[in-house]
Amino acid sequence: MPTFDYLNGELEKLQAKGMYRLPTVWSGASGPWMEADGRRLLQLSSNNYLGFTGHPDIKRAAVEAIERYGSGSGSVRTITGTLDIHDELERELADFKGTEAALVFQSGFTTNQGAMSLLGPDDLVVSDELNHASIIDGIRLTKAERAIFAHKDMDELEKRLRENGGRKRAFIVTDGVFSMDGDIAPLPAIVDLAERYGAYVYVDDAHASGVLGANGKGSTDHFGLHGRVHIQVGTLSKAVGVVGGYVAGADVLKRYLIHKARPFLFSTSHPPAVAAACLAAIRLLRQSQPLIDRLWDNATFFRSRLQEAGFDTAGSETPIVPIIIGEPDKTMEFSRQLLLEGVYAQGIVYPTVALDKGRVRCIVTAAHTKDDLAFAVDRIAAVAERTGLLR
Ligand SMILES: *Cc1c(COP(=O)(O)O)cnc(C)c1O
Repeated sequence: MPTFDYLNGELEKLQAKGMYRLPTVWSGASGPWMEADGRRLLQLSSNNYLGFTGHPDIKRAAVEAIERYGSGSGSVRTITGTLDIHDELERELADFKGTEAALVFQSGFTTNQGAMSLLGPDDLVVSDELNHASIIDGIRLTKAERAIFAHKDMDELEKRLRENGGRKRAFIVTDGVFSMDGDIAPLPAIVDLAERYGAYVYVDDAHASGVLGANGKGSTDHFGLHGRVHIQVGTLSKAVGVVGGYVAGADVLKRYLIHKARPFLFSTSHPPAVAAACLAAIRLLRQSQPLIDRLWDNATFFRSRLQEAGFDTAGSETPIVPIIIGEPDKTMEFSRQLLLEGVYAQGIVYPTVALDKGRVRCIVTAAHTKDDLAFAVDRIAAVAERTGLLR
């Protein structure tokens, strides 16, 4: 009788490197303060940037949709799984983003898998080395030629485009906001290069949706590049507070993906409650600039307090604020010590980031108060003192 005992060896290796970790189980709703194992903790790790997961309008929209349509959609989008609320959400998203069309997928992850079905053997995809796992996997599923450029290295990107010399259709793919360092892609420079070399631009705004640009419209809006970015991917799972992802772009692109994108064709569409909650959230986002301003104000406050205390926050320029610790075991130990102090901030280590660049990644939200953030900085400093991080 075969067993799975052989998997233990791999897990022990992770344990030895301080990289073994099972999910924390939280009781109660997402928010700045959450409860786990009977302890109330200040959490700095959610993507609930605007606190939308608990917004009464969004919750009400979900409840009403369940009452009206039931719990599930009953089918994939192409059969009986496109309800009027799915269609309405896509119209709302296209209008919000200022694009011809938008197509919704079950998650941001599947959006990248789906959108990449655009790429074939006659295409070249040039991708930033720090792009999200779902972009990497999406690219792997295509027959396109691949090239990687060093993080935000515009010289190397240009070199890759020059080498191609117009041989293949080139697609430049980048995160809008990078999730590990919290830095913003140099989109204006990318667009300039794309225009010079006749390439397409594909930006994944998962961490920029609801965060960057007017009313959270994303990085294209932030840099005033409307009409010059061909594919804008967004997520409905982070600041929007529900779950899902979408592609915003040309109508012909949407109609092509409806026929070719496998997560769209072969996996059931969002439950009505999800579609309705997303719709309510996008409508709410249109008048959320004050909340977004508060998010950025909180981020600046937290980052500058940390920097004043002598911490290395890497290239952070958004509400994602990493604190660089170093080796994996040292990083995970820092995160554990912080938990003892009542602050939950996720340790992120190799291979997600370089071996010596392990970090405790903090994500500030609009729902945190300045007192919450000052408390966090105080506790982080106490752990740094105890572990000798800043010595
Ligand atoms: C989080 C993230 C995703 C995945 O989004 P989900 O909706 O959680 O599946 C995709 N791309 C990037 C860049 C992300 O940060």
